[in-house]
Amino acid sequence: MKILANDGISAVGKTLLEKAGFIVITEKVDQADLAATVNAQGIEMILVRSATTVRKEVIDACPHLKLIGRGGVGMDNIDVAYAREKGITVINTPASSSQSVAELVMGHLFSMSRFLNDSYKNMEHGDFATLKKNYAKGIELRGKTLGIIGFGRIGKTLASYALGAGMEVIAIDKKTEPCDIKIPIGKDQSVNYTITPTASLNNVLGSLDFISIHVPKQNDGSAVISAKEFALMKKGVRIVNAARGGVVNEIDLLEALDNGNVAGIALDVFENEPNPNPSLLNHPKIACTPHIGAATVEAQDRIGEELAQLIMGQFGK
Ligand code: NAD
Repeated sequence: MKILANDGISAVGKTLLEKAGFIVITEKVDQADLAATVNAQGIEMILVRSATTVRKEVIDACPHLKLIGRGGVGMDNIDVAYAREKGITVINTPASSSQSVAELVMGHLFSMSRFLNDSYKNMEHGDFATLKKNYAKGIELRGKTLGIIGFGRIGKTLASYALGAGMEVIAIDKKTEPCDIKIPIGKDQSVNYTITPTASLNNVLGSLDFISIHVPKQNDGSAVISAKEFALMKKGVRIVNAARGGVVNEIDLLEALDNGNVAGIALDVFENEPNPNPSLLNHPKIACTPHIGAATVEAQDRIGEELAQLIMGQFGK
């Protein structure tokens, strides 16, 4: 069987599949040519990350498609229900990238607190003494309160890092059962800490120094953070969105940054990917990364391996 891994697949995953007799094609096909290529080359499985979309039109145009695989969590780039209705197997790898996303968020939290992004951008042209003065108001993470909105796999993993860095963590989720968080200490030891999420975002917004969002794209496409929520936040709050474009309203965000309510935000995801609003990219209080939450060697290896195991489990000879 031929598999098109259109957004790539790790060497580990590709080797496993090839050893099991699958043919794995990794040459990128343009979105517009996807259906035609699948049909012309007799491809029966498409693997994607977040770049390629597999919508109803592609599904309808490819009657021999047996499987669509998403390397990662969010399946908002695939018409999952429609594909399953048509008898196509749809798989993803939900847990493989949690640690990498959490580490990216910690990187952004540390970075935003010391203006690393903006100060670096201005080093080439600025006067050293002025720059030093402009970036004199950095803050420390230890002792600060982090609100994690969406306390699933990534949210809990982030909590473990943040607790380890000495932050207080408040979790906000629709599910409010107590969660045991394991905080590793060195290689062999760990401590457990229990966090009980609250369902009421509005009640806690005013007490958060930092906020990180880890909800999926909402079914109705609505934002979890818009003008109403910005107005309830503590002045000077710093935010990270490594969830999905649209869970933070970008127009309201620009307003909250410009009126000084929000001190900074790091965005790994954007409403209009792959062409984000340029006002976000050039804003001195915004640090952007190009949707690289899961882009580590370790996460990609885990994703490739998990996809291969799932495919071999269902379609292996
Ligand atoms: P998960 O399903 O384990 O957790 C999501 C949590 O959000 C759940 O506990 C759910 O109850 C909660 N939730 C949903 N809507 C909510 C709302 N309106 N208010 C409060 N809580 C709400 O998912 P996960 O594995 O932690 O991943 C979260 C999201 O991160 C994914 O859906 C994906 O969009 C995104 N993601 C981004 C990257 C990246 O590269 N930046 C990588 C992986 C995942």
